[in-house]
Amino acid sequence: MKALIGLSACLFVGASAFAQVPTIDDKHLKIAAELRDEALKSSIGYEVVESLTTEVGPRMAGTPGDAAAVKWGVAKLQELGFDKVWTEPVTFPTWKRGSEKAEVISPYPQPLVITALGFSVGTPEGGLSAEIIEFDTLEDLVNAPEGIAEGKIIFIKNRMKRARDGSGYGPAVSARGRGAVEAAKKGAVAIIIRSIGTDSHRMAHTGMMRYEEGVKRIPAAALSAPDADLLENMIRRGKPVTVKLEIEAEDGPDYTSQNVIGEIRGSEKPDEYIILGAHLDSWDLGTGALDDGAGIGITVAAAELIARLPERPKRSIRVIMFANEEQGLVGGKAYAEAHKDELSRIITAAESDFGAGKIWRVDSRVKQEAIPVVEKMVKVMEPLGISYGNNRAGGGPDLIPLRGYGISVFSLRQDGTDYFDYHHTPDDTFDKIEKESLDQNTAAYVVLAYIAAQMEGDFGFGIE
Ligand SMILES: [Zn+2]
Repeated sequence: MKALIGLSACLFVGASAFAQVPTIDDKHLKIAAELRDEALKSSIGYEVVESLTTEVGPRMAGTPGDAAAVKWGVAKLQELGFDKVWTEPVTFPTWKRGSEKAEVISPYPQPLVITALGFSVGTPEGGLSAEIIEFDTLEDLVNAPEGIAEGKIIFIKNRMKRARDGSGYGPAVSARGRGAVEAAKKGAVAIIIRSIGTDSHRMAHTGMMRYEEGVKRIPAAALSAPDADLLENMIRRGKPVTVKLEIEAEDGPDYTSQNVIGEIRGSEKPDEYIILGAHLDSWDLGTGALDDGAGIGITVAAAELIARLPERPKRSIRVIMFANEEQGLVGGKAYAEAHKDELSRIITAAESDFGAGKIWRVDSRVKQEAIPVVEKMVKVMEPLGISYGNNRAGGGPDLIPLRGYGISVFSLRQDGTDYFDYHHTPDDTFDKIEKESLDQNTAAYVVLAYIAAQMEGDFGFGIE
């Protein structure tokens, strides 16, 4: 029967005579629907995030919080009955934040709220004072004449736009990543940017920045949105504005953390995997509830629901808590490198790393012949308010290295309207998570994981 189906498919797609058309039967679709409903009643995901934020809290890569999170992750997966739990080493350079202070010296002396960007150098002993020169965007700075900012502090004031899909982040965040390098090239002694965020609270958003070989390393910090407004108002009055920065920060030695992995072992094809990912590290300012405790809770809960079934699914489900996503997708790269010989056995992968808002759309990245299975999967998700988007899914940051090898991925796209109000701030705390939304996420992930684990055929490998 299977051979016949395979043969008829090859007439359409020109695949090998034994290629199997991917299918999913009604029995498994029904169980997927039951798992979905069970997820909406379960509170495991919510309890997992509460546990992580309470018992570990901030867990910036390379800090004692990082080590505590690894311990917590192993214990949690064991406690929840995963068949196999292990860790894999991930090594990276570290960075430490010290005290940070800023104030306007003249013409209107006032304190400012700032935070250093990740991997920024500190200011010299006693701080650094200089006149501010403002730019609307990073691009304006790049296009400005050489030497325009000699001895000054550059202020980039670009505002991130609020959007459900988070599309305002990309255009704004380049000022954070590349600002210091471009500012130093123009002769600046430091750079401050308007926080990359959408809130109006008086706290600043941290995040990664980078230096470049051969370009002077200058301190880089973000201003809270109201302080960026304040600075703009002062500059508009036409008098030179002088700001003093006092930032303590330093690079540390290399550190080895761990990817924490839990597996629900498949009954028939244990060496084929469905990967559910999230990152275990966070920034240091909040407790990493939305970024990415929520993703940890969602993926752990989805796998745990499947483990509760009387029988194991055909394929294995791996939950990966990636180490150090924030400072360069280090855990994702390490996983891809360590497992590069088995990547063709990854059936599909999805990462949850966009807070705890409800999922509204699913994008896939599968071979064309597998689209009917995706359509049936989305049908099971429809009661959750989820519809299908397209077949160009990105899959999440830690999956970028894997995707480079052509694995199939899914993006379960969350409502991120409020996400950047809290992202990388002290306000990223547990109270921001709505249980009902988190459960809706778990429900969608469990449907994806279960169907991928039980389908006949696969989603393809070597997908462009
Ligand atoms: Zn994240």
